[in-house]
Amino acid sequence: MFRKNMELELLIEDIGVNGEGIGKAEGAAFFVKDTVIGDRVLVKIMKMKKHYGYARLLKVLSPSPYRAEPMCSCYRQCGGCQLQVLDYMQQLQYKEKKVRNNLERIGGFRIEETENDRQGILFHPIIGMEEPFFYRNKAQFPVGTNKDGRIITGFYAARSHHIISNRKCFLGVGVNEQILTIVISFMEQYRIFPYDEESGKGLVRHVLIRYGFATQEIMVCLVINGCGLPQSEKLVEELQKLPGMASIMLNVNQKNTNVILGERMINLWGRDYITDYIGNIQYQISPLSFYQVNPVQTKKLYETALDYACLTGNEIVWDLYCGIGTISLFLAQKAKHVFGVEIIASAIEDARNNANINGIENVEFFVGKAEEILPQWYEREKLRADVIVVDPPRKGCDMKCLETIVKMQPERVVYVSCDSATLARDLKYLCGQGYQIREVQPVDMFPQTTHVETCVLLGRK
Ligand code: SAH
Repeated sequence: MFRKNMELELLIEDIGVNGEGIGKAEGAAFFVKDTVIGDRVLVKIMKMKKHYGYARLLKVLSPSPYRAEPMCSCYRQCGGCQLQVLDYMQQLQYKEKKVRNNLERIGGFRIEETENDRQGILFHPIIGMEEPFFYRNKAQFPVGTNKDGRIITGFYAARSHHIISNRKCFLGVGVNEQILTIVISFMEQYRIFPYDEESGKGLVRHVLIRYGFATQEIMVCLVINGCGLPQSEKLVEELQKLPGMASIMLNVNQKNTNVILGERMINLWGRDYITDYIGNIQYQISPLSFYQVNPVQTKKLYETALDYACLTGNEIVWDLYCGIGTISLFLAQKAKHVFGVEIIASAIEDARNNANINGIENVEFFVGKAEEILPQWYEREKLRADVIVVDPPRKGCDMKCLETIVKMQPERVVYVSCDSATLARDLKYLCGQGYQIREVQPVDMFPQTTHVETCVLLGRK
């Protein structure tokens, strides 16, 4: 009954993965860009499938009371902050609801509304941020030329490689803008050209900036299409004046690729890394290291994981998908022994190094797939586990990994997830194999975006 070009009125009730509003009419869902939860709108259907369609906003009939003034003038073109026009309290509600819905619909769990019902699942309110802007410790700005031939830096317009000039991103730290201004003036003064994807010519591709929230140390890394930067001492001289500057690096990337960083690093000034802390654990972070981008919320997430692990000092713990060992080191302080497993070899190098600088000796790291390493050590060496922590990428855990967890029969499983749909799928499996969800804690690691992180405690029935 719905057809292309039809007009209809909708109440926007939900948000899609890309931040578009969703409204329902007669059992069909419609995706409408540029709307927010609570808007009553008039739309025109652009494309119709069986149970859903895409519609264009014609008119906001009555605006949502939850509309917020966007901070950033580029938020629409950028697409990085899908939720910036939605009031932060509503963003939090939306994310909490998303986790709850996925657990109920995909996982088939029943979530009690009351907090004290110990029989059911303890679903905690989402942990939000007091200041939901300027939280990112890492930023990567592409460098290019505008149509007047001026050097610009900013971000790629959504789903394109067209650079929109903007030195002030509201998710990043304030010093980013100063650094970009220094880099651009330097390039203008010494006639150093930005890289051009089409021709493969030009030198400077990206500016990567990392900032240690706890230490206030700054790293600037220019990604270049070449083996050196002419007059680099002049750039160093300027950057060095910024308080906290600790590391100025070049990264060589001469490939025609979307991947930002190449393999080779050149030190221009200072250390090869910056340091930062999460809690009382120190981490060394190089331009290539994976490191959580929101340190304030990361601490809260890891504290939740630590709390759920319920360690007394006697436990054998496995931390699967451990990255640079951030969670492993956090847990090692309270466990007997921690084994970390991660697929990327350089991350494990970082993990071992971080264990060393903190004098933590009761951890051991393995490079490989969780679904291969865990069964190997369990079947061959009969290694056991009291607690298993998993923090997989969006696709969730491999079946073989889950099966081995069940065989190992740990007392507790702590599941840290960045995708509540695959989380719900995996929890459903574990709960069919003798485990029970005890607690669920959503954490807002990425305010202004649709992403939500969740930490879940499972215990044996
Ligand atoms: N726990 C870490 C990192 C989590 S991100 C932290 O909090 O910082 C997920 C990690 O899983 C990434 O580092 C990724 O490289 C790794 N990974 C992806 N697939 C894997 C697999 N099959 N086995 C082990 N690690 C994997």
